[in-house]
Amino acid sequence: MSLVTLSDVLQPALRDGYAVAGLVTLGWEDMRAYVAAAEAEDVPVILQAGPSCREHTPLPVLGKMFRHLAEAASVPVVAHLDHGYTHEECRTAIDSGFTSVMFDGSRKALAQNIAETAAIAEMAHAAGVSCEGEIGFVGYSGGEGSDGTDPDEAAQFASETDVDAMAISVGNVHLQQDKEGGLDQARIRAIEAVTQVPLVIHGGSGVPVAQRTALARGSKICKFNIGTELRMAFGQALRTAVNADPERFDRVQILKETHEPVVEATRRVLQAFKGA
Ligand SMILES: [Zn+2]
Repeated sequence: MSLVTLSDVLQPALRDGYAVAGLVTLGWEDMRAYVAAAEAEDVPVILQAGPSCREHTPLPVLGKMFRHLAEAASVPVVAHLDHGYTHEECRTAIDSGFTSVMFDGSRKALAQNIAETAAIAEMAHAAGVSCEGEIGFVGYSGGEGSDGTDPDEAAQFASETDVDAMAISVGNVHLQQDKEGGLDQARIRAIEAVTQVPLVIHGGSGVPVAQRTALARGSKICKFNIGTELRMAFGQALRTAVNADPERFDRVQILKETHEPVVEATRRVLQAFKGA
């Protein structure tokens, strides 16, 4: 059994200079491929259930799926709730067997974000579960704009919430389909100078691969969330499989053909986060 908490994988990453991928899952096919890729690369992996995943499959079911994969895996696997928006949602995730919850209070005023995140971190820790918070606001491609993380606020947030990981806004944007963004290194340096908490980059798909590697090895960024890049790989593989035979209607037969391409794409993502 290799089910572990977020803290269990991020503290060694912080110490030894690498990062762990937080992979956005949408269903059985992609989560299974992600674990196979992590085993092939011999690295830990964080399986994440975000809002669109939960809209499709209830949290108690996702908890079972993540735990089933983790228990059979040869590498450490974290069962993580991504963007929990309420105390209730985080409570349900913990009751469903998740080993890590992210509470996203980043749209709230600082004091309220700190108070609510601290309460969820306390609940999570009492259950032996990790907690990720977000300070600053990471926007969405084609949607809400970002609000960059202020280093002083980050230091205050880290010390007053007792989170195990802190998501920051440093030029990263959710749902980017190209890798031309690039992160604000000066802001990252200013934030990591004032906190010891492992840092998290949401919207990792938009970060150039060379910068992912450099930051994994040489900064306190220990977790990159990757969703869009692998969703695109899955979508492409599915389209190819569907179009390969117009007579075919059995979805298991079709979905089987997404496995190898998604494993290959995931392996390339994981390789970039390895240490020197
Ligand atoms: Zn996010």
